[in-house]
Amino acid sequence: MFDSGSTLDPSDWDSLRVQSHRMLDDMLDYMSQIRQRPVWQPAPDETSRVFEAPLPSSPTSLESTHQSFMQNILPYAIGNSHPGFMGWVHGGGSVVGMLAEMLASGLNSNLGGRDQIPIQVEQQVVRWMQNLFGFPESSSGLFVTGSSMANLIGLLVARTSAIGTEVRSQGLIRSDERLVAYTSVDAHSCLERAMEIGGMGGHQLRKIPVNDRHEMNLVALQTAIEMDQAAGNTPFCIVGTAGTVNVGAIDDLHGIAAIAARERLWFHVDGACGALGMMSPKIGAKMLGIQSADSIALDFHKWGQVPYDAGFILVRDAKRHQATFASPAEYLRRETRGMAAGSPWPCDFGPDLSRSFKALKVWFTMQVFGTDRIANMMERTCELAEYLSKRVAESPELELLAPVRLNIVCFRFRCDDSDDRVDSNQVNSDIVVAIQESGLAAPSATKIDGKLAIRAAIFNHRTSQLDIDNLIDTAIRFGRSITQGSQISCKL
Ligand SMILES: *Cc1c(COP(=O)(O)O)cnc(C)c1O
Repeated sequence: MFDSGSTLDPSDWDSLRVQSHRMLDDMLDYMSQIRQRPVWQPAPDETSRVFEAPLPSSPTSLESTHQSFMQNILPYAIGNSHPGFMGWVHGGGSVVGMLAEMLASGLNSNLGGRDQIPIQVEQQVVRWMQNLFGFPESSSGLFVTGSSMANLIGLLVARTSAIGTEVRSQGLIRSDERLVAYTSVDAHSCLERAMEIGGMGGHQLRKIPVNDRHEMNLVALQTAIEMDQAAGNTPFCIVGTAGTVNVGAIDDLHGIAAIAARERLWFHVDGACGALGMMSPKIGAKMLGIQSADSIALDFHKWGQVPYDAGFILVRDAKRHQATFASPAEYLRRETRGMAAGSPWPCDFGPDLSRSFKALKVWFTMQVFGTDRIANMMERTCELAEYLSKRVAESPELELLAPVRLNIVCFRFRCDDSDDRVDSNQVNSDIVVAIQESGLAAPSATKIDGKLAIRAAIFNHRTSQLDIDNLIDTAIRFGRSITQGSQISCKL
C-alpha cells in the first residue's frame, strides 16, 4: 500500500480506505464491548519484549503494524475507559472525542498562531470558559497538556504580576523578594513542582493544615501569611483547590478570595478535578468563590471525558498573562493581513510554540452532548459516590475514611489494630492490589490521616451502580480471604 512513490502517501488509496475502516471498526468494537474485558491486566513478558526491538530501517505493512497494536498494545492499557476503573483521577474518554481527534490529526494544524479558523475554535472555547466562570472578556485562556502545566502557568503569571516582568530577564536571583505561596496539605504535588520549576523554590510553598472536611484552614492561612510578612518574606499567591485529588474536598474559595483581596495576593484555583462541575448548578453551588479567582487550572480530560490530553488555563487579566510569556522573534513576525495576522497568538500565552488542535475534541464534545447532558453525567458520578459511601456505611466490615463531597470515596476494610499480628495498612494495600490484579475493578490506594485507604474516584461516565456493587463485593471478599488466609482476626 505504501510500497512505491516518493511521498508518504499510499500508492493505493482504495486499499488504504479498507484498512482504515477496519481500524476504525476495531476501536468502535473496543469501546462498545469494553465491559467484557478485564479493567486491567499485566502484560506478559513476551509482549514487553516486542517493544525492545530497535528502530526499523525497512517497512512493515500497515495491516501487520495494526495487528501488533491490537495484540500487544490495546489489551494492556491502564483501563481508564473501562466502567470499573476508579483508580486515581482519570477520564473515560468518548467516541466523539476519539473521532474529533482523528479529524484534528488529519488537518494537522499547528495552533501556535497565525490566521486560521482552528485558532478561532480555541478562542470560542476560551469564551465558553469565560462565561462558565464569570470571567471578563479581557481574560485569556489557553489549552495545555494538563493541569500540571496549567498550574505552572498560573503561578508564573502570579509571580510576574507580583514582582514585575524584569524577573523574566533578570531571574529571581536579582530580586530582593523571597516569594512565598500558600496552599493546603491536601493540594496536588504538581504545585510544589511548579514552584520548583518556576525557580521560586518548592519549600516556599506553605502547606496549610486542613479541617476535618479536608478544606484549607483559613485561620491557619491568615496566621501563616502574617508570620511570613513579619519575617520579611513576600507572600504572592494563594492556591485553593476545587476538588482535591485525595478525597474530592473543595476549599472555601469564597473565604480564600476574601483573604487574597485583603492581602493583595494572587488567587489561583486548581480545578483539575472539579472546576468543570460548574456546568451543573448543583455542583457549581459547592464552588462559590471560584468566580473571584485570578486564574483557574482545569482538565477536560478528567471529568469532561475528553480524550487525553486537554488541560486548560484561564487568566483574568490577559495583559498580565501575555506579559509573562510573549517575546519577539523575527521569524514569528506579526502582520495585520495575510497568514501572519491575528496577533496575539496562543504562543504568547504559554511556553509552547507548536501546539496541537486540542480545542477540536473539546468543541465536538460540547457541541454533540451540550452542557446539560455533561452536567447530568457529572451529577450521576456524585450520586454513585453517595451510593458507594452508603454501602460502606451499611457494611460492618468496612469504614469510611473521609466525608464525600464530590465523586471520590475513601474507605477501608476494618481490621483489629490492637492485635499485634495485624497491619491494617498492609491488609488494605493488599486488597487494592488484589482487586487490580483480578481485573474485576480498579480502585487505587492513598493514605488518609496515616490510614491506608481504598480509594474510588468515580470520574468515568460509563460507571454504573453495578460497578459500585462489584467494587464493594470484591473488596469484602478479598478482605476476608486476605485476613483469614493470614490468620488475622477481624473486628466485626
Ligand atoms: C490531575 C490533577 C492535577 C494534575 O493535572 P494533570 O492534568 O494530570 O497534569 C493537578 N491537580 C489536581 C487536583 C488533579 O486532580
